[in-house]
Formats: sequence, C-alpha cells, structure tokens
Amino acid sequence: MGSLTWTPDQDDVLRNLRAEGCSYGVIAIDLDKSRNACISRAKRLGVPLTVRAPTEPRRLPRPRKVKMQPQNINIAPDPLPELPASSTFLGIPLLELKANDCRFPRGEGPFLFCGQPKAEGSFYCGSCQRIVYRGFSER
Ligand SMILES: [Zn+2]
Repeated sequence: MGSLTWTPDQDDVLRNLRAEGCSYGVIAIDLDKSRNACISRAKRLGVPLTVRAPTEPRRLPRPRKVKMQPQNINIAPDPLPELPASSTFLGIPLLELKANDCRFPRGEGPFLFCGQPKAEGSFYCGSCQRIVYRGFSER
C-alpha cells in the first residue's frame, strides 16, 4: 500500500478516473492506495461518489421543436410557373416575331418566344398571360 499523502498529480488522476467512470477499486490499484483511501480522498476533493457510466451522455440534447415556418410546412418546393406546353410554345426567335405574336420568352438565351397570337391589349397570349400575371401577384 502506498503512502497516505496525496500529491496533486494523484488528485488529478483520481478526479480524471472518476470522471471517466472508473470504480474506486480500479483507481486504488492505479494509485497504489486502498480503496477506502481513494473514497475518502474523493470526498475531500468534492469528487462525486457516484458517476454516470462513461458512455452515457451527461444530458441528451432536447429535440428542438420545429418551428412551423412556411418553408417547413411547404415540403415540396414551390412549383415553377408553368411554362406553355411545348405544343403551344412555338419558339420564335425575336427577329421573326410578328406584331401580333406573343412575346413570352423561354430558355436561357438566345430567347425564343411563344409566338402564339397575342391576347387583346397584351404582349402575351392567353396562356402566357396567366403565367406572367400570376408571377407578379406572388411577388
Ligand atoms: Zn404565349
């Protein structure tokens, strides 16, 4: 059995091993002291006599409540404005557009234009108008 005095290093070992969940029996062997000596030393140092198993997290993080924000409610992304069906989208280059052709563009440039006959008083045909004005109202 080792000496009855404790060095600061031994105190540290005692604290660390207890923090890791070692039993006093193990610590006693490690420090070459009696188990009772380790327990009483631990009490003096204020080391908790019972520790949780080392694998157990001290405190499980609480599952956060998901705030019901709009982006969480809408799981599906906003649908893109529907483009004219390709059957109605003629794909006319700008220079070939006639005065009465719908000017709804499509593509990433060079733009092609819808080319359907315009609705009255509009740059767009009926189906493109719906897309355009719905787009504006959503902004
Ligand atoms: Zn159109």
